[in-house]
Amino acid sequence: MSTVQLTLDEVHSLAAETLTRHGCDDENAGAVARVITDAERDGCHSHGLMRMAGYVATLKSGKVNGKARPKVEQIAPAVVRVDGDGGFAPMALLAGRQPLIDCARKNGIAALALVDIYHFAALWAEIEPLAEAGLCALACTSYKPAVIPAGGKKALYGTNPIAFGWPRKSGEPVVFDQATSVVARGEVMLAAREGHQMAEGVGVDADGNPTTDPNAILEGSLLAFGGHKGSSLAMMVELLAGGLIGESFSFEAAKRDNNDGGPPQGGEFILAMDPGMFGDREGWLDHSETLFEKITEQEGVRLPGDRRRTNRERNLRDGISLPQSVYDKILQL
Ligand code: NDP
Repeated sequence: MSTVQLTLDEVHSLAAETLTRHGCDDENAGAVARVITDAERDGCHSHGLMRMAGYVATLKSGKVNGKARPKVEQIAPAVVRVDGDGGFAPMALLAGRQPLIDCARKNGIAALALVDIYHFAALWAEIEPLAEAGLCALACTSYKPAVIPAGGKKALYGTNPIAFGWPRKSGEPVVFDQATSVVARGEVMLAAREGHQMAEGVGVDADGNPTTDPNAILEGSLLAFGGHKGSSLAMMVELLAGGLIGESFSFEAAKRDNNDGGPPQGGEFILAMDPGMFGDREGWLDHSETLFEKITEQEGVRLPGDRRRTNRERNLRDGISLPQSVYDKILQL
C-alpha cells in the first residue's frame, strides 16, 4: 500500500482547511481538527482522517452547523448541560469541560449532558483531560441502529461506546474506551477499505447470516460483545445518552437522519467524580497504584491505553503514514 508521510501539524492543517472550505468557521474546524489529529497521533486510524469524508458530507448536506455556538447551562447543582447548537461534538465538549471539572471538584460528583450534537469521534480523547485533571470519569454516546439486541435479528442499538478514566501518580491516566459491539463500526470500515476479513462472531449480513465479509457486515449488523452482557450495556448507553438527558435513542436518531454518510444528531453523557471527596481523601491515589502494580506484574498483561501511548510517542517523533488513497480522497474534498 503506498502511503504519504505527514507531520501532525500537517494532519491538523489538512483537516482544518478541508472543514473551513466546507463551511466551518475557524473555531469549529479547529475543534474537530484537534480530535482528528489526536486520533492519528495515537494510531486510531478508524477515527482519524478517514472520517473526513463523513464530516464533509454532513456540512455539504446542511445537517451540521459548522458555525455552532454551544450554550452552557447549570441545570442542577451537579448537572451541567451543553446545547451543542447542532454542531460537531468537539465544540460542545470544549465549552462544557471546565464547567464539568469545576462542578465535580465542588460537589465530588458532576454530570455533563451534551445535547443537539453530532458525534463522530473516539471517546478516550474526551476522558483523558478529565482524568489528567485528577477526576475519575465515564462517558458514553449512542449512534444509529447497528447492533442486534441479544437473541434478536434486527439492529436496534448503536455501537454505543463506553470510556472510563482513572488518574495516576505519573499524570498519565488509565483510560479504556470500547464499543459495546464486538468491534467499532470504524474497524469494519477500515477492513472493507483494506480488503481484509473480520473475525467470526463480529457481525451478520443483511439477512442475519453470520459473515466475515466487512462489506456484508456494513450492510447487515454487528453483534454485541459478550452476548447478553454487552447487549445490556448497549441498552444502558441508550438510556444514559438518550433517555436520561432528553436526547434521542439510536432508532429515533436514525429516523431523523438524512444518511449523508456522517453521524446522526444525538447526545452524550459524561460523569466525573473527584476521588478525594469519596472517603479516602489522602490515600486513594497510592491505593489505586497498588492495583495497577498487581495487574501489570503478570506476564502478558498490559493496561488499556498503553498501545495508544506507545503509538503517540512514535508518531509525535516520526509523524504518520497515511494511505495514499485516503490522502487523495481528502484532497478531492
Ligand atoms: P478496541 O477493542 O480496539 O479497544 C478497546 C479498549 O481495550 C481500548 O481502551 C484498548 O486500549 C483496550 N485493549 C485492547 N487490547 C487490550 C489488551 N490486550 N489489554 C488491555 N487493554 C486492551 O476498541 P473498539 O473497537 O471497541 O472501539 C474503538 C473506538 O471506536 C473507541 O475509541 C470508541 O470510542 C470509538 N467509537 C465511537 C463511536 C461514536 O459513535 N462516536 C461509536 C463506537 C465506537 P488500547 O487503545 O491501548 O489498545
